Amino acid sequence: MNLDFYMPVKTISGCDCVSSNSDVLCGLGKKCMIVTGTSSAKKSGALDDVIAALEKHSVEYKIFDEVKENPYLQTCFAAGREAREFDADFIIGIGGGSPLDSAKSIAVFAANPDLKPHDIYDREWENQALPIILVGTTAGTGSEVSAVSVMTDAETGRKKALTDPQCFAQISFLDPKYTYSVPYDVTVSTALDALAHATEGFLSPKCTEIAELFARKAIPMIWNKLELLEESTGEISKETRNELYYGSIFAGYVLCSVGTAFPHPFGYILTEDFNIPHGRACAAFLSELFMHTMEADPQRAVEFLEIIDRPYTNFCALTDKLADFKNVKMTEEQIEKYSARWINLKNFKNVRGGYSVEKGKELFKKLFS
Ligand code: NAP
Ligand code: FE
Repeated sequence: MNLDFYMPVKTISGCDCVSSNSDVLCGLGKKCMIVTGTSSAKKSGALDDVIAALEKHSVEYKIFDEVKENPYLQTCFAAGREAREFDADFIIGIGGGSPLDSAKSIAVFAANPDLKPHDIYDREWENQALPIILVGTTAGTGSEVSAVSVMTDAETGRKKALTDPQCFAQISFLDPKYTYSVPYDVTVSTALDALAHATEGFLSPKCTEIAELFARKAIPMIWNKLELLEESTGEISKETRNELYYGSIFAGYVLCSVGTAFPHPFGYILTEDFNIPHGRACAAFLSELFMHTMEADPQRAVEFLEIIDRPYTNFCALTDKLADFKNVKMTEEQIEKYSARWINLKNFKNVRGGYSVEKGKELFKKLFS
């Protein structure tokens, strides 16, 4: 039995949890930098709640609102310097995965003046990252409870994940009401991301007993609501939003404990070069992951189908449809170039029966040639 699990984030959940628990911000210092995207922190109401909480405890703040989707490593580096110049004692990230992941790297850069942008991946840093507080506004990445920060290198356009225990938040506030303003398309894509985290983890040979519990909780919560979203493109109920948000957190625990399989690194390519949002991009490869598992370990594949209570055709049809990647076309040369990135890809070890560069190439030809 494998009960390994490490998740040091203090989570505070429920409606109005920021306002009701502002006291926890007291002991962190006198100054903080708030990291946000362009508008989501304001639209969701989270920024107002955080500012009110900080003002109540006389914490001075500076807002850095320049984080874009698929945030640049170089932006995080620059923000880290700003946080240092401001003398920030801690960092608060508010938003979807992009601002939350940025807040983590900014906390590292702020504490380590000698770190150049790429050093964050390439070498150990000396000083402990500043404490990180996160307030999520999308139901997707589970960044609130993961040690992952995904950034894009502005020089190469490539996404790369940094995974380090110092990227765990000290506290994450989980209030689904902040997702009520998320547009339909983003809701679908982020839900697909959460489904991918739970599915990739559940189907992985490294899935522990604890991760399996979380996956079994997350998968139906997200799957059932995705079926609903597919049927109606109209207003999304609060009940659906709440379920998706908490489902994304359970899926985040799975991600945190098991990591991801090939849908994630393959999906990065669709985001980088074909502008497909992260969740849809990863979901484009879930059918293949399922069919591959069906061959390598039919029993596990059947267990997955029992969780969603649907035949495999439904799973593949719905994820393919919502991923909506049919317009992506690649040449053989492009596929060859992408496949060079998969040599020694550790995500292949997260697949039952293993996976290979050759299989990846065949898959890309089948889907995109
Ligand atoms: P996102 O990139 O943070 O946001 C997508 C869009 O939704 C943005 O336009 C954003 O606006 C908007 N938005 C967010 N919350 C909103 C709200 N409450 N109301 C209205 N609009 C809202 O999307 P995401 O899918 O959450 O994050 C994706 C990123 O996370 C990718 O870079 C991905 O690689 C990474 N990721 C990280 C992990 C992890 O474990 N750390 C896991 C999976 C993925 P603004 O631009 O104004 O913010
Ligand atoms: Fe993801």
